[in-house]
Amino acid sequence: MKKGKKLYEGKAKIIYATNDKGLVIQYFKDDATAFNNQKKSVIEGKGVLNNRISEHILSNLSQIGIKNHLVKRLNMREQVIKLVEIIPIEFIVRNVASGSITKRLGIEDGTVLKEPLIEYCLKDDKLGDPLIAEEHILAFEWATKKEVEKVKKMILRINDFMIGMFRGVGIKLIDFKLEFGRLKINGKDEVILADEISPDTCRLWDSITDKKLDKDRFRKNLGDLIPAYTEVAKRLGILHEQSNVSAVNVTKLSSVKRKRK
Ligand code: UDP
Repeated sequence: MKKGKKLYEGKAKIIYATNDKGLVIQYFKDDATAFNNQKKSVIEGKGVLNNRISEHILSNLSQIGIKNHLVKRLNMREQVIKLVEIIPIEFIVRNVASGSITKRLGIEDGTVLKEPLIEYCLKDDKLGDPLIAEEHILAFEWATKKEVEKVKKMILRINDFMIGMFRGVGIKLIDFKLEFGRLKINGKDEVILADEISPDTCRLWDSITDKKLDKDRFRKNLGDLIPAYTEVAKRLGILHEQSNVSAVNVTKLSSVKRKRK
């Protein structure tokens, strides 16, 4: 497969064309942004960890029948994905109240929700990704009723699976963000899971200590983001438990390999 020109550059990822028009390459950058791009930094090794963690979660989801865009990981920073038309909605799933909902509604941080709560935000950086109702999605035809119903069913299955997967390794899944895309499969329109699932897009707390193992380490200036993401990867069995190879070293190793080719 040949890597083609850059098609799109987002805050944390770049999409490149390939010689197969149905497939693109997703490159994970080290850039970190928060608060609608007002806070920015580069955290060396973050992209490598997110690539590995997202690959792990999406391939596990695929095994339980959740169709998604991942084809295969190519190297430390890139994966081949199916080209989809992204539905312009961020689907936020909450099991425990934290982040924006606590400020918006005055709910105490850490409040456990009786049922998972799905919120919708319009993907529009200029507007600051505003919270919208399901009715807005239908009124402005950002997705059809059928698509929304299908996505909601998939979200609840993804949430159940991920809660269990993380619980098994001593992590509480507080909340996360999902994106979905449209694709024709055998002439039929389908909606599949897209984008990434990683500590950049989830809130993950240690089950015993409530230590934050996600992007809140960056948002709240808690430091040690790479050790926290590495901890998530190790607990999921992606990196060896005894391995002292930091993500930064992994990045350097992969660039050495590239140069040798
Ligand atoms: N989230 C995300 N991208 C966004 C907004 C939110 O990945 O553009 C994730 C975020 O990491 C958290 C969850 O969605 O796991 C809920 O985020 P929240 O609405 O609390 O917003 P935030 O506190 O990030 O402003």
